[in-house]
Amino acid sequence: MRSYRKEDTGGDWKLKDWEVMITSLFMTQLKSAVLNDNGQRCRQAAATLDDLTFDNRFVRELPGDTVTANQPRQVRSACYSAVQPASVAAPELVAYAREVAEMLGITADVCESDEFAAVFTGNKLVAGMAPYAMCYGGHQFGNWAGQLGDGRAIALGDIISPCGERWTLQLKGAGPTPYRRNADGLAVLRSSVREFLCSEAMFHLGVPTTRALSLTLTGEQVWRDMFYDGRPKLEPGAVVCRVAPSFTRFGNFEIFTARNEPDVLKQLVDYTLRNDFPQLGAPSTDNYIRWFERVCELTADMIVHWMRVGFVHGVMNTDNMSILGLTIDYGPYGWLENYDPKWTPNTTDAQGRRYCFGNQPAIAQWNLVQLANAVYPLIKRVEPLQEALERYVARYNRLWRSMMAQKLGLKAFDAATDESLVTDLLELLQQAETDMTIFFRRLAHLSADAAPEPEANDEQLIEPLKSAYYIPGQMTPGLHRQTGDWLRRYVRRLDSDGLADTDRRHRMNAVNPKYVLRNYMAQQAIDKAENGDFSLIHELLELLRRPYDEQPDKDRFAVKRPDWARNRPGCSMLSCSS
Ligand code: AMP
Ligand code: MG
Repeated sequence: MRSYRKEDTGGDWKLKDWEVMITSLFMTQLKSAVLNDNGQRCRQAAATLDDLTFDNRFVRELPGDTVTANQPRQVRSACYSAVQPASVAAPELVAYAREVAEMLGITADVCESDEFAAVFTGNKLVAGMAPYAMCYGGHQFGNWAGQLGDGRAIALGDIISPCGERWTLQLKGAGPTPYRRNADGLAVLRSSVREFLCSEAMFHLGVPTTRALSLTLTGEQVWRDMFYDGRPKLEPGAVVCRVAPSFTRFGNFEIFTARNEPDVLKQLVDYTLRNDFPQLGAPSTDNYIRWFERVCELTADMIVHWMRVGFVHGVMNTDNMSILGLTIDYGPYGWLENYDPKWTPNTTDAQGRRYCFGNQPAIAQWNLVQLANAVYPLIKRVEPLQEALERYVARYNRLWRSMMAQKLGLKAFDAATDESLVTDLLELLQQAETDMTIFFRRLAHLSADAAPEPEANDEQLIEPLKSAYYIPGQMTPGLHRQTGDWLRRYVRRLDSDGLADTDRRHRMNAVNPKYVLRNYMAQQAIDKAENGDFSLIHELLELLRRPYDEQPDKDRFAVKRPDWARNRPGCSMLSCSS
């Protein structure tokens, strides 16, 4: 047995990068519930919504739209338009995320009040709120699309939490804004359930994401042509209250460069540096460069997480890329079931597959190039931007390798052996339809402690993984042998690492989730909710709070996608209609 040596890895990376990243996310969360960054005890939660503290610096510090009419139009020289949410017929709470409420200082009693439902569907404003829609543009499917903006999202303002943190509250589906183009400004229950559940599921998986406070029904019906086949139907209207430190997107910067409005661009960049990246120091050309480098890093980290858990965003347009590296705008996203890098849940992208699972790292870099072009007028030098983009690739590759080593339960990625070990595995997973989540979770069951002599046969090795394969007939004798060969190689590699099985299992189970929001599960929750039964939304929210834990009474949610869901709309294919 050979022990791990740092020089084996080429020496330029840290052993536990990945673990540090995941742990620090959870620590931030735990700490914020009790103590603030200075170790002081946090204030008490608000007794009513009127007791919340707002401080709306986005509208205070940045130029706003001078036209007040809420009509679709081009908005010039402004970062936002002040706009009121529309009133709705009958606000009704469907669900709320208790950790988000707690983080904001809103008690369970307040969340369950009629006032909460009224405020978070947009029917009522409380003191201190200053609602607005953001102006941004974006590249959609590789082409510049001009002004997009919050067509149906309305920020209510920034709340200062009891622990002194700042969170922007934003209602999605709260009525039309000047950015709506020819759409209605609304959202339906179907897409709102998906956004609400998935943003919370991602958070608990340790993936950087916007959060969701609440999901409410408006009591109104909304026309949607879900299949774009000219047969619209009425669906229940809904609103999600999203929560994030900032909702600024790459497209917020692009719009000002595209319109040749460098003064507004500079105001927004300076604002972002001061408020969202204060650790980088005061705005200056050098700090603009450091800021762009940091955005590249945050983006790389986010994409590695997506690749770890099998998440496919589905619409990685530059208007859907957060400047903080948060997963944002849950539309036709999906989770890989059988491991297939070419898979995309988005029917609009079925031809080109621009946003398929395997393309996500490269597309993120393409999007960063658009951001670099947008901020170039402030920096006026290509080389530092180019270097940052190259460093994105290096960082992504380094973290991806580290992440794959963690998924396999290795102490560290050893290029000499693991480059081919990982590549060969990912090839193998595509030969027969293999469920990614189940495969990696079950791989921890393999034993390396008791490496039998002579070595285990194919059947013994494959046995713990059988539940990951979709179609028994695809496991031909040849593939069976190849899989057995790979597993033997893997066991030998584990043996050289020398970790005890229990230790390795523990590490693997901390990065390979047992429960993810499988596409069909979200759809079942939607089907029930459309019939007035919200129980599955609540059950899934609870389940996905602990995605890495064994939850023996919930095993039915940790199995392969059932056959009926293979080609059912909403389960494997989604349109952008929402
Ligand atoms: P998305 O594909 O959801 O990221 O949306 C792209 C753009 O379309 C954004 O500017 C959205 O605000 C806008 N949009 C999407 N759906 C609607 C809607 N129902 N009403 C108004 N604007 C919308
Ligand atoms: Mg969007």
